[in-house]
Amino acid sequence: GITLDVQGVSYRWVENRPLALDNVSFHLDAGDVALLTGSSGAGKSTLIEMLLGFIRPSQGKVLLGGIDLQDMRPADVTRQISWIGQKPVIFAGTLRDNILFASPDASEEQLQAALEASSVMAYLPHLPDGLDTKLGEGGFGLSGGQAQRIAIARAFLKDAPLLIMDEPTAHLDPATEQEILVSLRDLLKGRTALISTHSSQFHKIGETKRLVIKKGQITAEEVLS
Ligand code: ADP
Ligand code: ADP
Repeated sequence: GITLDVQGVSYRWVENRPLALDNVSFHLDAGDVALLTGSSGAGKSTLIEMLLGFIRPSQGKVLLGGIDLQDMRPADVTRQISWIGQKPVIFAGTLRDNILFASPDASEEQLQAALEASSVMAYLPHLPDGLDTKLGEGGFGLSGGQAQRIAIARAFLKDAPLLIMDEPTAHLDPATEQEILVSLRDLLKGRTALISTHSSQFHKIGETKRLVIKKGQITAEEVLS
């Protein structure tokens, strides 16, 4: 895990429109798992894009492990953050390529460990038997849940200290959502995480904080014990 400090950040997408983020502050300790909830348009995606370094705060700052994001090279930010979105990006190429995408220098042992930790292979019954055969298959035609398992395997392999998830189960049916939550809970152990969600199922995932965002402001912060 790594600490994350968001200190009074504001952001406006369009002049003369309301702030999308209005003086947002919160702190995550190493290993904190924070659920971020708020209705559509509240500012969740804007905050996540800022944490990923795609947009810069017009006021305030974001510190990752005590270092201002603005003073970090983009490659260093990317190395420390694993991002899991609503729909995982599956590239043309084999499943092996897809899982190794963010960690091309990983060893075979590390790959095996990530496959095991994410249970990804157990969820690809339509593919030919045998790990190497399965891994050599292309990634097209995966279901939403299978694709999300590829994203989870990627994140295990990358082993970044901060996980950012943007409604990771939004497109899944309730049964698949429950299965994915089990794997996500394992992934979250020992890592710092910020997870935006609408889902009422999304609890008991080891969360230690709940943040509520409304019209760009954090309106509630609850620390769970
Ligand atoms: P949420 O993720 O909670 O639904 P968003 O961060 O997407 O909220 O939106 C917050 C505000 O910022 C909204 O008013 C939205 O219209 C605006 N916004 C978000 N993204 C953009 C963008 N790329 N360009 C212009 N306005 C945007
Ligand atoms: P991982 O999340 O598995 O650690 P990455 O962080 O590299 O790996 O992200 C996985 C894929 O998602 C990469 O293709 C990355 O470029 C892409 N990605 C990351 N953040 C975003 C984003 N906000 N919007 C679209 N694609 C993104």
